[in-house]
Amino acid sequence: MTGEPKLLSSFRRVDYLDDMCQQPLDLLVVGGGITGAGIALDAASRGLRVGLVDKQDFAAGTSSRSTKLIHGGLRYLKQREFGLVREVGRERAILHRNAPHLVRPEQMLLPVIQAGTYGRWATSAGLWLYDRLAGVDTAERRRMWSRHQTAEQEPLLRTDILRGGGLYYEYRTDDARLTMEVLKTAAQFGALCVNYAAVTDWTYEDGAICGATVVDAWSQKAYHVRAQVVVNATGPWTDALRSLDGSLSDKRLYLTKGIHIVVPHDRLPVRHSIYFDVSDGRMAFAIPREGCTYIGTTDTPYQGDPQQPALSTPDVEYLLNAVNAMFPSAQLVANDIHSGWAGVRPLIYEAGKSASELSRKDEIFGSRSGLITIAGGKLTGYRKMAQRVVDRVVQRLSATHQRPFAPCWTDRIALSGGAFDHPRQVPTFIDQLTETYLDRGISAASITSLVHRYGTNTAAILEAAAHALADPSMQTDLSASKRVHRILLKAELQYTLDHEMVHTVSDFLLRRTSMLLFHRHLALAAADFLHDEIVHAMGQSATDAVIARRQFDLDCAATMLPAIAE
Ligand code: FAD
Repeated sequence: MTGEPKLLSSFRRVDYLDDMCQQPLDLLVVGGGITGAGIALDAASRGLRVGLVDKQDFAAGTSSRSTKLIHGGLRYLKQREFGLVREVGRERAILHRNAPHLVRPEQMLLPVIQAGTYGRWATSAGLWLYDRLAGVDTAERRRMWSRHQTAEQEPLLRTDILRGGGLYYEYRTDDARLTMEVLKTAAQFGALCVNYAAVTDWTYEDGAICGATVVDAWSQKAYHVRAQVVVNATGPWTDALRSLDGSLSDKRLYLTKGIHIVVPHDRLPVRHSIYFDVSDGRMAFAIPREGCTYIGTTDTPYQGDPQQPALSTPDVEYLLNAVNAMFPSAQLVANDIHSGWAGVRPLIYEAGKSASELSRKDEIFGSRSGLITIAGGKLTGYRKMAQRVVDRVVQRLSATHQRPFAPCWTDRIALSGGAFDHPRQVPTFIDQLTETYLDRGISAASITSLVHRYGTNTAAILEAAAHALADPSMQTDLSASKRVHRILLKAELQYTLDHEMVHTVSDFLLRRTSMLLFHRHLALAAADFLHDEIVHAMGQSATDAVIARRQFDLDCAATMLPAIAE
């Protein structure tokens, strides 16, 4: 039996914190990145009473700062981890089925170059094996291109060392939105999820962990949450919370930083996503998206604060050099950079291994107090990670509970916005909405990008926008196109306030819409208006408004090279 459905409404945060305190939870999850979100969904859908808290906005940690790909596990093939390739391939297919608006196939070109990571034969055989192990659909199986075909299809590639190309499929996503849709689905199963609520201390009874002190970042009020089982899913902060539990062992995190830069697409007009060799033996991605191309990533040891990692000049130079070596005519320079982001990988330390050699596998640690910690892993594997953690939780609860818990069934749960019978229905849904809303002034492009963010939930946003557009008193001082843009933005913001716990303009512009990354000028132009709307809708105090606005300024700075002033 699952709990009463909850809305992830900004207006319900405090109610949910109160609710967590009223009656002990079966499970308290600390961390609202993809790992914690997946655990909350798995547990709530098996019938557990679940609470989840994050000290920042949901996904504000690593889960909004990745390469935004649901990998098929090609790199595991090189390491001969065939079982992992199989598991990752299966996961990718499940995610595509459960959130087809958000996890979409993307053709990826692997140029074969002289003395590159993969030769022509190895690329062909490797991709063939990868297709079989990962269970790739016939239509998406690898194709090999000759040198001539590759150069013709991607004329920017350096031709003197080009030997051919392998075309295969990766799946693209929006990491923060995926986290959000998982959390919304968990809430539909009754999970109490609250952002801006930090665990500051653990609570124990006879040496066993039985809850936590949770402090609301806005009111500073402390909540004493009791739970039968507590899971630490705090990514780069994992060891800080294990320290608080006195259970930090020899197995520790090793943090590495990875950055991405975004340039206008016409400065690097690649036709496909490209996974290319870098001279130091690493590989990098160039991925076209929303009128831009983003490039990443780096992998360097990181000792700073995981809360606000920033782009640094050496990292940016590394990526610019990598691009200019493979696409010499582009001649990208720092001034071409439109935006970027930096993320911290929570890897598990292994003696004698360099950053890029460390395994991306996840690991579960138990502590003497009973705290369960999950560390490492990838966005791609979040569902299986959640299953492994919740299996442990349920095993523990079964000893004390009289009621049975269902086995994991998240492979069959469509995520919020993803309730399509088949991925092919997504374009049909876009066509239907376009037919309904085009003559009300909303463009097909706007509808498409909304559907790729909100899936079936887009209908609610468009209906609210159409209603406002029909009201002549709304925003009449603007030109017709600006009026439509403004009204649409306002409807989208309202949806995220009501359903996605938006609290600040950064939440909206960075993690719900990615506008600050891929449509930076529009984001900056709308920031004041959106900030005022949020302050007004939430009835925020002047102090909270200043804090929220300052956070946005910090985020603007962190998503741009310091030398390139706005
Ligand atoms: P996080 O997302 O960091 O979540 C942890 C959360 O815990 C944070 O939101 C934080 O605020 C919260 N927290 C911390 N302390 C407290 C506290 N005291 N109280 C309450 N909350 C707290 N994976 C892929 O599958 N595909 C990719 O393309 C990919 N690319 C990547 C590229 C880069 C550069 C990086 C860095 C990673 C990439 N990954 C990728 C890996 C993937 O992004 C991570 O594995 C994943 O996002 C980790 O999620 P998480 O939930 O464990 O951690």
